[in-house]
Amino acid sequence: KGNDGKYTVTLIEGDGIGPEIAQSVKDIYSAANVPIKWESVDVTPRLKDGKTVIPDEAIDSVTKNYVALKGPLATPVGKGHVSLNLTLRRTFNLFANVRPCKSIVGYKTPYDGVDTVLIRENTEGEYSGIEHVVVDGVVQSIKLITREASERVLRFAFQYAEEVGRKKVRAVHKATIMKMSDGLFLSTARNVAKDFPNIEFDAELLDNTCLKMVTDPTPYNDKVLVMPNLYGDILSDMCAGLIGGLGLTPSGNIGDECSIFEAVHGSAPDIAGKQLANPTALLLSSMMMLQHMGLNEYADNIQSAIFKTIAEGKTITGDLGGKSKTYEFADAVIKALKK
Ligand code: NAD
Repeated sequence: KGNDGKYTVTLIEGDGIGPEIAQSVKDIYSAANVPIKWESVDVTPRLKDGKTVIPDEAIDSVTKNYVALKGPLATPVGKGHVSLNLTLRRTFNLFANVRPCKSIVGYKTPYDGVDTVLIRENTEGEYSGIEHVVVDGVVQSIKLITREASERVLRFAFQYAEEVGRKKVRAVHKATIMKMSDGLFLSTARNVAKDFPNIEFDAELLDNTCLKMVTDPTPYNDKVLVMPNLYGDILSDMCAGLIGGLGLTPSGNIGDECSIFEAVHGSAPDIAGKQLANPTALLLSSMMMLQHMGLNEYADNIQSAIFKTIAEGKTITGDLGGKSKTYEFADAVIKALKK
């Protein structure tokens, strides 16, 4: 917090629709008088000693400010540099990815009353990036699971459940097939659970979770789900689909020191630059950030304005079935703020 009473937060606007949705956040925050000063940084990768790295200024900014809000970053498929998102997660050791999905009252989807919380291990598993060609036509990709990283994310899941008042933690896995890797995750979970006697623990097979969730997601409303990286990636997008799509779902990447909050969606190149993007996901990610910083009253005000605007349905973006531009939605949210 600076002398002017404002907190400095790093802002990574990102690619594609990133700058458009970041503008909505900036406009709404200034209208709501949120005591935050944005420090915009460029994360265009550079090559240093043969490795792709994030510019030092960006790293210094996040390290100094502890919190960042991040737009989507485009990753070229199959070639060139490693995913910048992965690089950011590794650089700041953002070991847990928290993804809540809550139905917006008044916005009709095939499922009502969804309120899931999913925590994804963010640093290893299938996304360790260890791949090699054995011989032409045969590649091997290694799923790395360590007790240390599993324990860290599992412990966080139990603490998170305690903090938000959920009574149960459920580990999602495929230890029936991946006996050693998921087996280690599961046995670590059972051990960590012993330290949290007030929280119930159980486990479920991933395929079973998918089936049950699309049949009726509401039994998951009292639980925190925790799982290895790839499963969390896929299952959380599925949860996003239950509540109306990627335009609505926030996430937070939590580390020991720093945390980076970001929308679940990507850079949406198909609609970029046309003011068609829905800024809600980035906005709700920034609400998670405000809550993380203890600025709950500002979060509550903005969140109510967002939900009211969506429920009214007059000024919503194309992904939700409306016709409004990104900035028109942001203006409607500003009008709905309690002054
Ligand atoms: P995407 O999420 O960008 O888009 C999927 C679909 O959802 C598109 O039709 C898009 O128009 C729509 N969509 C996404 N966000 C929206 C929003 N806010 N409002 C309205 N519609 C929205 O996924 P993709 O096309 O597979 O990926 C595009 C790029 O983004 C890739 O380079 C990918 O690597 C990257 N990506 C980045 C992140 C991240 O930075 N965290 C996450 C996922 C994908």
